[in-house]
Amino acid sequence: MLAPMRAVRGKNEIIAAEDLPEFQTKLLGWFAKAKRDLDWRHTRDAYRVWISEIMLQQTRVAAVLPYYRRFLARFPATDALARARPDAVLRSWAGLGYYSRARNLHRAAKEIVARHGGEFPRRIEDALALPGIGQYTAAAVLSIAYGEPHAVVDGNVARVLARLGAVRGDLRQPKRWRALAASAKALLPAQAAPVAYAGDWNQAMMELGATLCTPRAPQCAACPVARWCRAHALGIALRLPAPRRKPKPVRLTLSAAVLLDPRGRTLLIQQKSRHSGLFSNLWQFPAIESARPAPEKLGRYLRSAFGINAALEPLRTARHTVTFRRILLAPFLVRAAKLPRIGLSTKGMVRTPRLSEIERLPISSATRKIAAAALAALS
Ligand code: SF4
Repeated sequence: MLAPMRAVRGKNEIIAAEDLPEFQTKLLGWFAKAKRDLDWRHTRDAYRVWISEIMLQQTRVAAVLPYYRRFLARFPATDALARARPDAVLRSWAGLGYYSRARNLHRAAKEIVARHGGEFPRRIEDALALPGIGQYTAAAVLSIAYGEPHAVVDGNVARVLARLGAVRGDLRQPKRWRALAASAKALLPAQAAPVAYAGDWNQAMMELGATLCTPRAPQCAACPVARWCRAHALGIALRLPAPRRKPKPVRLTLSAAVLLDPRGRTLLIQQKSRHSGLFSNLWQFPAIESARPAPEKLGRYLRSAFGINAALEPLRTARHTVTFRRILLAPFLVRAAKLPRIGLSTKGMVRTPRLSEIERLPISSATRKIAAAALAALS
């Protein structure tokens, strides 16, 4: 039997204190039986939990699984990750997107080795001081790995809480989000409970949101906590939470140059991204942003940045979407007698691999699409 949390009566209370023990027992009992069998649920190793939590940000479980396995095979522990070359880390991440996550993981691993003896810190302030660790990730890792009593609030948990309490309005408004965080904390089983409960509890809340209390089709008939759910009682579950105002899609064109020398080598650069975070320090073709395909502007850029003056042959275009950006990739083949030398240029790092071999480098899926258009034209 779980030890009930002391009742906190007030505006953030979602479940009445006297109902809380039964509510907790029902949800944990359901989770024990219904939880999906996922790799990271077989471990309480903080490193592995941390990797899974970072990968799962903005990414579906099915997409994460193969990356998670490969990443851990390559970097089985914090010290292995800390010792790795940045290129190797990014290569293991290539295709998963949001590359700042990989760079932050790498930096955080180094800090964990340098400052915490290679062990993910237990104190939330120390965890929050690491690169790429916010409130959600810190609470998730500390509760799952160490049983520390921190409640997580992600999109799934926020939706469950909003429906349980029939909370109206935009959940992402800071004041409302803080109130949800307070509600989540009030539901957490008491600290005196066995060490695993905080982690199990958080995972149970997230699992309920991911599998039953889904945005468009809440399965209230199968829900273990339906009898406490105000939205269900009011028949408004489908209307909650209120839809978020999405940013308007931004349309842009990326004109990219696939340089090619007589030996089949191309030129890739690595630099602080000029292109709205599209490449995030991955290897990329020289490119410029514009409203539509802009070969003249691209030609001027090639001349000024690399001293290359050659004809631009249009290649097949491709579509690419990153969050709210709708990007038209407009690649051009540029045959050059000679490529700039390997090394550091004023525009960042420069590399000249064979076009057919750029897959070996950390590249984004946009770069992959551009290369595919060039290879298709050359074959
Ligand atoms: Fe979600 Fe329905 Fe369960 Fe309420 S009863 S928590 S709306 S699944």
